[in-house]
Amino acid sequence: SIEIDRLAKTFGSVRAVDDVSLTIEPGEFVALLGPSGSGKSTVLMSVAGFERPSAGRIMIGGKDCTRLPPNKRDIGMVFQHYTLFPHLSVGDNVAFPLKMRGVAKAERRRQAEAALEIVRLGGYGDRMPKQLSGGQQQRVALARAIVYNPQVLLMDEPLSALDKNLREEMQIEIKRLHAELGFTVVFVTHDQGEALTMADRIAILKAGRLQQVSPARELYERPSNLFAASFIGEMN
Ligand code: ATP
Ligand code: MG
Repeated sequence: SIEIDRLAKTFGSVRAVDDVSLTIEPGEFVALLGPSGSGKSTVLMSVAGFERPSAGRIMIGGKDCTRLPPNKRDIGMVFQHYTLFPHLSVGDNVAFPLKMRGVAKAERRRQAEAALEIVRLGGYGDRMPKQLSGGQQQRVALARAIVYNPQVLLMDEPLSALDKNLREEMQIEIKRLHAELGFTVVFVTHDQGEALTMADRIAILKAGRLQQVSPARELYERPSNLFAASFIGEMN
């Protein structure tokens, strides 16, 4: 589980995240939806430990992680802006989190190959990132995020750079992994359709504040005016 308890983050005078509380159950898939600048990445980076909260608490699996560095948290992350290290092979990219955790080389290699198999890129370990397509690179980023079998997978707009076909293919791939491996997912997206098709629940952020948290099924079958008004007109 993830418990975000009264999280706040300010950058100078900007309140990027303002008093956000959200509890995510083990195995649940939650989409974090909201316009640009609404604080989605800041929430995710705070859960991952790359941002230090100004106030509030982050619990992961019942453990208070607020002051722990990222490599001491049981999370895998797919980042919004940079994905792979260009100077490292695909295998070394995937093995990187294991290296950070002090896993021995032979074991790193074995686990990286297993993670690449899971995203259907078995045998690609010796290639360089630039030799892969955009979708394949995103799969490698996904393999790197799941390589040490984390309890929680955090994804920040992992598919926004892909074209429509590839995006739909990857949506299915991520859902398959979620069903198979059972981790807890927080998935940031701008795309309400993507949130509706992928998530169990949708949390809507606006100007750093949580507006609404609702089951996707409910919204899909009966989109309320509140839901629509809270973001449809303001996305894109
Ligand atoms: P996008 O959809 O564009 O990725 P977002 O919802 O992820 O947006 P954040 O990146 O979390 O939004 O940013 C929330 C607010 O905090 C914005 O006003 C942003 O300018 C500000 N902000 C984020 N990171 C920093 C930083 N490192 N320094 C200063 N301000 C920041
Ligand atoms: Mg962002």
